[in-house]
Amino acid sequence: MNNPTSDHLQFWKAKYAALVNELMEYREKADTREKLLCRTIIRLTLATSGLDPVIDPHLVHIRDLLRKGISNEQRLRELDTVSETLLREVKNKNGNDKFLKRESEGLFRLVKQLAADDQERKAIALLEQGVDQGQITDWKRLFSELQAALRRNTAVSMAAEAPKPGFWGRLLQIKKMPVGETVELGAIRDQLLMLLDAIELPLNFSHQAEHIKNRLKSETDAQALQTLLNDAIVFLGDVKSFIQKEQLEIEHFFADLSGRLSELEQDATGVSVSTRDFVRSREAEHSSFSEHLENFRSEMDAIAELDQLKTWISGGLENLLDRLQSDRDRELSQLRDSSGKLGELTQRLKELELEAADLRSKLRLAHDLALRDPLTGLPNRKAYQDRISQEIARLSCFHQPFSLLLWDVDHFKGINDRFGHSAGDKVLVTVAQELEGCLRKTDFVARLGGEEFAMVLCGADGNTGRRIADQIRQKIGHCGFNSQGRPVRVTVSCGVSQAAYGDTPESLFERADKALYKAKKAGRDRCVLI
Ligand code: GH3
Ligand code: MG
Ligand code: MG
Repeated sequence: MNNPTSDHLQFWKAKYAALVNELMEYREKADTREKLLCRTIIRLTLATSGLDPVIDPHLVHIRDLLRKGISNEQRLRELDTVSETLLREVKNKNGNDKFLKRESEGLFRLVKQLAADDQERKAIALLEQGVDQGQITDWKRLFSELQAALRRNTAVSMAAEAPKPGFWGRLLQIKKMPVGETVELGAIRDQLLMLLDAIELPLNFSHQAEHIKNRLKSETDAQALQTLLNDAIVFLGDVKSFIQKEQLEIEHFFADLSGRLSELEQDATGVSVSTRDFVRSREAEHSSFSEHLENFRSEMDAIAELDQLKTWISGGLENLLDRLQSDRDRELSQLRDSSGKLGELTQRLKELELEAADLRSKLRLAHDLALRDPLTGLPNRKAYQDRISQEIARLSCFHQPFSLLLWDVDHFKGINDRFGHSAGDKVLVTVAQELEGCLRKTDFVARLGGEEFAMVLCGADGNTGRRIADQIRQKIGHCGFNSQGRPVRVTVSCGVSQAAYGDTPESLFERADKALYKAKKAGRDRCVLI
């Protein structure tokens, strides 16, 4: 009979064995699944690599980790981090896509309105589709593809038929657009203003550019704005041709200069070659002369009779004298040659020195002009920026107070409107002269642009700065301007701020600008200190 306890034991043993078997099977299956999964992911990363340069490195990383297996706890954690980063990149990318899609809608609307024909419309639609489907994800690519597509079309149409304006030409000649279709003129005006601000214009154009910018800013009538946009385009065209011309001149100048330098180099080589030849020929002569004397001596030793000796000596001496004479002649002509060349070289060097000095003074003049405002002759914004940075740096070294004064002509737009732009210009010139006339040698005034001026009063604390500003303001108010016999009332407002330790040019400017704003708000024709 079986013992119940041993039955019980048997039962549990069998159960345990079954469980162990089950567990082993389970492990085997899990291993196989894990390997299959890893293989699949590795293949997936291989298949998707090369689609996006941002994602690629993550794919490689994941592949490497999976190849080593994922049994290790640390590797698992690493894998988790990499896949999190990858997820973030993908999300960002999609976010950018959506952003570009949303932001480019307006551009596509405008560009489609301006499309010349079906072909161009088709090209634009294709690009829009590219943005929609996330194939184009950044502005740079979008612009270059847009430009390429439109240029391609313009090139084809120009070759096929009579020339018609290119896309950008059409964009800028909006008045030819069909009635009923409107383009955001304001947006184009803003772009043009940004362009005019961004490009570095040759000095002789800056006054005209300022004029166009002011007209662009203040023009509200759509028709007049279109004409103005055309004027601006013509102006930019003029600037371009001027710059091209100037560039050509500079190229010629440098070509000429390098030509002369190489001539000079050749001459210098010539002189050194002839000097070297001269030295060599002297050495050769010297050795042939010694040889000659040697022969002379040995021949003399061989002569026994006096008569014979006499004849031989007189013949020999003549020979020797002839030779000396011809050597001297040759030397002299070589010397003349060399000194002529040296003279020429010195002359050329002098000419080059003069040219270099001339160039240097022209450069200095150009540098000075680049820091001056052409209308008023005052230092310009760039000069102000240089100066204020110096003053701020000096403040921390020498602890001498200084104040910044920002000036703005009151209701200047009204002066332009009532008396004309050139009367406005004259007011600016006079205000500039008044401001400059009130300064001490150590002070500084600049035209920042428009009807705004900045002044630096060295050694003046805020209260002194405000007191001086008030005197200047009153002087300008009593100046008695007039335009064609009509009196023009001109007043100015001023914001004053004393530079404090730790100020930057920006923080100081911000305070003075706030003070100016307060002065305007409080009724203008006054000075406020902050
Ligand atoms: P506020 O008292 O608030 O300063 O009014 P404002 O009219 O002086 O100021 P606003 O900024 O409205 O107008 C400035 C005007 O200055 C607009 C612009 O046409 C004109 N302007 C800017 N630069 C020049 C220039 O070089 N010459 C002339 N004549 N006008 C200019
Ligand atoms: Mg202003
Ligand atoms: Mg003003």
